Amino acid sequence: MNSLERPNTPAPQRASVVVVGAGPAGLTVGNILRRAGVDCVVLETETREFIEQRPRAGVIEEWVVRALEQRGLAGNLLRKAQRHTACEFRFDGRQHRFSYGELTGRHHFVYPQHLLVTDLVREYTDVRDGDIRFGVRDVQVHDVDTDRPSVSYTCPQSGQRQVVHCEFVAGCDGARGVTRRALPPEQFRVARHDYGIGWLSLLAEAPPSSDCVLFGIHEDGFAGQMPRSPEVTRYYLQCPPGDDPANWPHERVWAELRRRLAAKGAPELVEGRLIEKRMLDMHDYVVEPMASGRLFLAGDAAHLVAPIAAKGMNLALHDAFLLGDALVAHLMRDAGSDRFGTGRAGRDRPDGDGGLEGYSEACLRRVWDYQEFSQWLSEVYHGQAAGEPYRTGTTIARLRRLFTSPLAAAAFAEQYLGTAERY
Ligand code: FAD
Repeated sequence: MNSLERPNTPAPQRASVVVVGAGPAGLTVGNILRRAGVDCVVLETETREFIEQRPRAGVIEEWVVRALEQRGLAGNLLRKAQRHTACEFRFDGRQHRFSYGELTGRHHFVYPQHLLVTDLVREYTDVRDGDIRFGVRDVQVHDVDTDRPSVSYTCPQSGQRQVVHCEFVAGCDGARGVTRRALPPEQFRVARHDYGIGWLSLLAEAPPSSDCVLFGIHEDGFAGQMPRSPEVTRYYLQCPPGDDPANWPHERVWAELRRRLAAKGAPELVEGRLIEKRMLDMHDYVVEPMASGRLFLAGDAAHLVAPIAAKGMNLALHDAFLLGDALVAHLMRDAGSDRFGTGRAGRDRPDGDGGLEGYSEACLRRVWDYQEFSQWLSEVYHGQAAGEPYRTGTTIARLRRLFTSPLAAAAFAEQYLGTAERY
C-alpha cells in the first residue's frame, strides 16, 4: 500500500531517489530500485486508473522483453503478448511481406503499453512495497546541482506543499513534464526535427485484417495498421499537420484506410468503432546531455521519437535499465557494504554501461541510432505523397532494395529489431 492510501500516516519526506513520472521509464526505474531494496518515491500527476488505461505503444523489441524478464518484470507480458515475425509493405498495388523472423530468428512482442504499465504499477506497489503518490500537482525540482536535491509537490488530499529530500532525481515525466526545465540552460542543448506532417492516430474496436504490421505507401499519404490485440487495432493516416480530428468522421477514416492499404489479394479491412482519434504532430527532439548534477532524465523527458518505427517506449525502457542499474550500483558502492540488505557488497556489482557518469552517453548512442532509422523510414512512408516525381522514384528504390538485396534486408531487420551488437 502506498503512503497516500494511509491517510493518518505522514508520507516519508526523505528517500534515496525521487522518480518523477509513472510511465514505463519511471516505473521500471522504481522497480529496479525496489528490487535492490533502495528507498524511493514515485510522483505521478495522474491517477492510477488513468495511467492503467492510457493506450499508446504496443510494439516491444525482443531484447527489451528479455531485459524486463531479467529484472522480474515480464511475467504477464511473456504469457499474454503476441509474437510478430513479419511486417508488410503495400506499394505498387501489391503486398510485399518482409519476414524478419525468417531472416534473423528474432521477433517483436506486441503488448499494449497500458497493460505493461498496469503490471509495473502492481509489481512496484503490491510486491516490492514501493511508495507511489498519484495525483500530485505543481511538481518542482530543486538544487540538483548540490548534494541535497529535493522535489516538492502539492498533495492532492491536503492541498499542502510537500518536499521530499533525496540523493538523486530521476526525471521520467515524459514529453510534457517539468524535470527537463531543471537542467541549467547553459549546460544542455535540444536538437529538434519536424517532419512537417501530421498523423491521425486511431484505435478501432476491430480485429486486425492481417497477422502483422502493415505499412501502406500511397500517393495520397501513408496509412498504417498495428495490431494490438484480437479485439483492438491501431491505425494511422497521414494528414496535414495541425489537421482537426473532427475532419475525419468514421466513413472518411475507413474509406481512406481501405484506399491507402489496398493491395491485390489482400483481405478486406475489418471495420469497427473508433475508440480513439487524435492528431499527432510528427516531430522529434533529443536533449544532450541527459543529466546534470543529481538529475537524470529518462525516456520521453529526454528524447521524443515520432512513432514511425515504434521506438519511443523501447528507448524509454533502455534508459530505465541503465539508470536503475547505475543508481543501484552507485548507492550500494556509497554504502560500502550491504546497505540495502541484498546480501551482496556494492563493489561486486557491475556498474552498467559506465555507471551514472557514462549514463547519458550510453543512452544517446542508441537514441541517435533510432532517430536516424525513424528519419530513413519516414522518407519511405511519406516520400511518395510529397508529389515530387524525384522523391517517388527514390522512395520506391529504397523499398525495392529491401526485397532484392539480402544485405539491405539484413541491415533493415537489424535496425527494425534494435539488435545491433554495439551502439
Ligand atoms: P510517459 O509514458 O509519457 O510517462 C510519463 C509519465 O509522467 C506520465 O504518466 C505522466 O502523466 C507523468 N507526468 C507528466 N508530467 C508530470 C509531472 N510534472 N510530475 C509527475 N508526473 C508527471 N513506442 C514504442 O516503443 N512502440 C510503439 O509501438 C509506440 N507506439 C506509440 C503510439 C502512439 C499513438 C504514441 C503517442 C506513442 C507511441 N510510442 C511507441 C511511444 C511511447 O508511448 C512513449 O515513448 C513512452 O510512453 C515513453 O515512456 P515514458 O515513461 O518516457 O513517458
